[in-house]
Amino acid sequence: MGRPYLRFIATALVGTLAVQASPAPDPDATPAPAADALAHDLYRELIEINTTDSVGNVTAASAALARRFRAAGFPPADVLVLGPNERKKNLVVRLHGTGKHKPVLLIGHLDVVEARREDWSTDPFKLVEKDGYFYGRGALDMKAGDAIMATTLLRMKQEGYRSSRDIVLALTADEEGGCCNGVEWLVRNHRELIDAEFVLNHDGLVGYSITSEHGVPQEFALSATEKMYADYQLTVTNRGGHSSLPRADNAIYQLAQGLLNIGHYAFPVELNDVTRGYFERMAATRSGQAAADMRAITRSPVDPSAVARLSREPELNSLLRTTCVATRLEGGHANNALPQRAQAVVNCRILPGHSKEEVRLELVRVLDDASITVRYVADDGTVTDRAPDQRAIAPSPLLPQVVKPLESTVAALWPGLPVVPFMNASATDGIYTRGAGLPTYGVAGIAVDADDMHAHGRDERVRVAAFYRGNEFFYRYLRAVTVQ
Ligand SMILES: [Zn+2]
Repeated sequence: MGRPYLRFIATALVGTLAVQASPAPDPDATPAPAADALAHDLYRELIEINTTDSVGNVTAASAALARRFRAAGFPPADVLVLGPNERKKNLVVRLHGTGKHKPVLLIGHLDVVEARREDWSTDPFKLVEKDGYFYGRGALDMKAGDAIMATTLLRMKQEGYRSSRDIVLALTADEEGGCCNGVEWLVRNHRELIDAEFVLNHDGLVGYSITSEHGVPQEFALSATEKMYADYQLTVTNRGGHSSLPRADNAIYQLAQGLLNIGHYAFPVELNDVTRGYFERMAATRSGQAAADMRAITRSPVDPSAVARLSREPELNSLLRTTCVATRLEGGHANNALPQRAQAVVNCRILPGHSKEEVRLELVRVLDDASITVRYVADDGTVTDRAPDQRAIAPSPLLPQVVKPLESTVAALWPGLPVVPFMNASATDGIYTRGAGLPTYGVAGIAVDADDMHAHGRDERVRVAAFYRGNEFFYRYLRAVTVQ
């Protein structure tokens, strides 16, 4: 899909913002108590099944949900629990539509990051409601989304809803790590089950799309692309010697100098259709210097002072360029010996269109020291001299059948809230579906305060009101994308 088309969408979205100024109360915006009770029930059931890689079991979560779908009248042939081994089985459910359009695939992961009871204020494997929040491992990332998507299908089935397309829900293993990424496995082994016109990933932004401040939504991010993750190992070796006789050549000093070079280096600014759209639309929501800077960087030539000001905000900096940062450091072997080796890990988040090898060569250039070797570290820990040439996948086109229903649903539930296209700086399972040629979008109607992101950390939580609002949002949005 070419750029002029996207420009059109961008203009349409900006136009919508202007007319959303007077919020009309939505007559349909009434709570659905039965759907909320079901979502809560599924949420609790999922959080209380440990699905960590170490001792947990994703199959148990898949099987528990499969029982719910069968009990609700889904035929056994449309409720599949399948995967590469006994602990890593995925759930694939199909709600049949009229076949007017190709299916929509919903994806979410059932696995969670490790959590130790002693680090938490509450038991991480119990759903605890306290002070207006739900606490538990996966409360945000992403058993809330899993429960909401499952609830939506169960609700549609119960209502006898006639969808214009099949709705396929795939809840999967090992997004957070482990042997057996479920989306990758399904793409490789059961492509026919998950084939779709487009994919909605409830994990678009670690399980939420709405950033709020003190519970007040600020924007709805439609995640349409993501950066590619890559680790590099930097090593300096030296003959060493006695520390009473220091020399100019020193593995620790050389590595330290190289790391400072990386710290001071900024990769070139490069916008794609998604990030350009982000800055154009965000400019309309800001005022003063920030708005002017956001507009300035979407024009060419780019104003370096605008870039410098925006780059001071880490979130905006990550949208502007590839980033690389030192994350680990070790060196030396004795307090009284010159170091024979110093080593660091540099982690990079690479913009769409660029390769891991390209970034490795750029690091070599920036280090500017032939005694520092730069090797690539694969996900399984294997270290190689060269990095893969594979390029980060291009953004998904902003399809009108995805964007327009999103704008209308968001406008109904949160009048005036801007919908902005977004690039994820971290990786999701969207890489596998985009890699398989399926346009993929991160969409989740849960609002999370920008300064309250506990995913992967201790006391992971979601506002109770945001969870239920997210439940209602997803039902309405899915209806809007599957309407006859
Ligand atoms: Zn996640």
